Amino acid sequence: PTTQTSRPPTGGGTTRRASPADVVAAARRAFDGGVTKPRQWRVSQLRALRTLLVEHEHEVAAALHADLGKSATEAWVTETGFVVREIDHTLRHLRAWTAPRRVRVPLSLAPGRAKIVREPLGVVLVIAPWNYPVQLCLAPLVGALAAGNAVVLKPSEVAPATSALLARLLPMYLDTSAVHVVEGAVPETTELLAQRFDHIFYTGNGVVGRIVLEAATRHLTPVTLELGGKSPAYVADDADLRVTAQRLVWGKFTNAGQTCVAPDYVIASRPTLEALKPLLVEAIRAAFGPDPSTSPDYGRIIGSRHFDRLTALIDPARVVSGGRSDASTRYLEPTVVDVVDADDPQELVMRDEIFGPLLPLVAVDGLDAAVDFVNRRDKPLALYVFTTSDVVRRRFERDTSSGALAFNVPLAHLAVPGLPFGGVGPSGTGAYHGERSVELFSHAKSVFSLPTRPDLTVWVRPPFSSAKEQVI
Ligand code: NAD
Repeated sequence: PTTQTSRPPTGGGTTRRASPADVVAAARRAFDGGVTKPRQWRVSQLRALRTLLVEHEHEVAAALHADLGKSATEAWVTETGFVVREIDHTLRHLRAWTAPRRVRVPLSLAPGRAKIVREPLGVVLVIAPWNYPVQLCLAPLVGALAAGNAVVLKPSEVAPATSALLARLLPMYLDTSAVHVVEGAVPETTELLAQRFDHIFYTGNGVVGRIVLEAATRHLTPVTLELGGKSPAYVADDADLRVTAQRLVWGKFTNAGQTCVAPDYVIASRPTLEALKPLLVEAIRAAFGPDPSTSPDYGRIIGSRHFDRLTALIDPARVVSGGRSDASTRYLEPTVVDVVDADDPQELVMRDEIFGPLLPLVAVDGLDAAVDFVNRRDKPLALYVFTTSDVVRRRFERDTSSGALAFNVPLAHLAVPGLPFGGVGPSGTGAYHGERSVELFSHAKSVFSLPTRPDLTVWVRPPFSSAKEQVI
């Protein structure tokens, strides 16, 4: 097969360059030729991807360290190992998820037979972001392959080491007729989006999400948008504050806060916030030591644009803890800040998704006010509630809307393979992981068959007057 890796003109390597149009055409040839449909092919691709991840774990970790300063453990838990677990879960259930399902036929249509057949969509485009550049590129790939599609992957140019590594390794392990990597930034992605795909799976910010959606309308291509936004964490007065602080610190400062489902800010009553503050400071120290810049477990900001954006959000007068930074290494200390008035447009930290290691604390006046605070804002990707009370749980379950709702722990719901992962409204459209991925990347085709003998359908054919008499 031809090499299907396309690099932007500035990219290195010896790979022959193919235009995005050529790449998509090649993927379509593979799909139309039936390469991707047999279950055996899907299984072999998933196994090969697993082998790649295990054999190159250290190289992948090195790329993630170069791009984001991730520790090897964090790289395994949140990226490489995450995808391996997704593959294992998918391989275990693939036969059941893709088997045709019989559907009951009403008596009036006997002796017909009905079933639902899951057919692959065709050529899928996956556009990935930089913050979990392995997981968010490869977890959708797992679903798309499991469902029998050809795939074009566009890793994020903002994580260049990981993008280059994926472009080099994937063709060494996967069927290069059907799985293609196109590296590049806006021009390459724009060119890709001009092509016709059968599904586009985009993860990233909402501004580009709109561009993707617009491009897709031209070909009526279905789109999944995995977006972000501000995910709130409400700490009820009855919460176990020590555990809450530890888990908030872990959820917020993993990957230096550059996690789409990171708790963006904390809301709680003023006394609870005051009690939480020293525990947060203690939990940060316990996790990253007195100087987090020397901790091997604390990451770095992806680039100078985001570094400048984040440091501009910090009002030194409001810092509870942290606040130090170093532009030369893109280090930004885990930082907790007080917010006086969340509705004041001057409160920059409460305007957009932070996507960095700043944790604002916002006082609200009790449960009703907390629910109202959440409901007055965009529906979040994740909503976290720390409580020991069933009343509080039920209230949030019933009266708020979010991609996910998690009690007493951030982030961890992603690791439950049976839970769909996705947003609602401005935080996204569609969901994936596990069986939901196979559903997402396939079409549930209705198949109905009615034997010609005995022919009992006379009652649905005109002349209806006589048919009516027959039925009666
Ligand atoms: P990014 O800058 O890497 O962009 C995402 C992708 O869009 C990249 O592949 C990029 O090349 C492409 N792109 C950028 N500009 C484009 C344009 N003009 N036209 C076409 N393609 C373009 O990543 P990002 O958007 O900074 O990612 C951060 C955002 O993603 C945050 O809002 C975060 O919450 C969200 N996010 C969501 C999830 C999720 O699963 N829901 C996961 C991670 C990140």
